[in-house]
Amino acid sequence: MQYKKLADGSYENLERTCVDTGMGIERTIAMLQHKSSVYETEVFVPVIAMIEKLSGKKYGSGNETDMSIRIIADHIRTSVFILGDEKSVLPSNLGQGYILRRLIRRAIRHGRKLGIEGSFLASLVNNIVDFYQEAYPLLLERKKQIQDELTAEEDRFSMTLQKGEHEFQKLLPSLMKGKQRVIPGRIAFRLYDTYGFPLELTEELAKEHGFIVDREGFEKAFKKHQVTSRAGAEKTFKGGLADHSEMTTALHTATHLLHQSLRIVLGDHVQQKGSNITVDRLRFDFTHPAKMTTEELQKVEQMVNEQIARDQVVTMEVMSLEKAREIGALAFFSSKYGEKVKVYSIDDFSKEVCGGPHVERTGNMGRFKILKEQSSSAGVRRIKAVLIK
Ligand SMILES: [Zn+2]
Repeated sequence: MQYKKLADGSYENLERTCVDTGMGIERTIAMLQHKSSVYETEVFVPVIAMIEKLSGKKYGSGNETDMSIRIIADHIRTSVFILGDEKSVLPSNLGQGYILRRLIRRAIRHGRKLGIEGSFLASLVNNIVDFYQEAYPLLLERKKQIQDELTAEEDRFSMTLQKGEHEFQKLLPSLMKGKQRVIPGRIAFRLYDTYGFPLELTEELAKEHGFIVDREGFEKAFKKHQVTSRAGAEKTFKGGLADHSEMTTALHTATHLLHQSLRIVLGDHVQQKGSNITVDRLRFDFTHPAKMTTEELQKVEQMVNEQIARDQVVTMEVMSLEKAREIGALAFFSSKYGEKVKVYSIDDFSKEVCGGPHVERTGNMGRFKILKEQSSSAGVRRIKAVLIK
């Protein structure tokens, strides 16, 4: 590295130049300790020892067992850090929560491969926290929560696996009748789509029964599904926000932030009863039995502004209404069974079924200010608010 880029786009020479070798702290430790990989350093040795104890397998043979052990050790450490962060990301099907879910579930799968039965991830947390607690005291503080969340996700995943395995067993007799020992892609896809059963697991099960899975067929079914849900989504959501100007879009996102903040400050009884957005203000009606206090209004305002300041990412996913409910998205309207809906997520703060559109990030929305809180009808309050740029 030789240059420093200045704000005006020009470059100047760095005082000290260097070469970026990718030599991170862990690799440096491994080298200084004459170890051939980071997994042999003090960072991972205690975790690996624990995995050996739980599985009764030995690390260091250079085969698949080693790989599984490394995956568990690495993923549990990352998961502990994500769960221990003050932003408190939780496993879900969206955004950061989805990354976390995949890490945890992959670790569980490799645990099963090693022959570990039942929940085991929580028992590895001590080793990680012990090693890092001095530099990251928050991990120690949140240890119990981290362990509980890992166990809860293990339970959820084991339910998914049970359901999927049960479905697979039901399918077997008819599959046995076929001449070829191939599981059609559309069946593998149905297990994936309906039961959240990962393709790799269908393949594992198939192998146990002398079958292979038509992977190409699976990919095809997957693509076809994406196209249909997109077409369905377009039809369903023609009626989004009428005015798509920058300001109304920002006010719409602010409405979602307001909705969630009200639920946090006042309670889960808060439900959207109406929403109206113009270019210069939002109006939001919601169920709540009493006039809001000045303190409550301040808290809500602060919470919305905090989410704006964090420059949260807004993402959208199309799914069935049932699935939306399952992942905890707010949905206060009736929809036909099986109908596809859009779920908008503002990081892990808010999830709501909605037609959109929304801003991509909350950062440039301006400052949120509540102008008025008043009665709308019996048991329903009304808030008018603006964004000040
Ligand atoms: Zn909305």
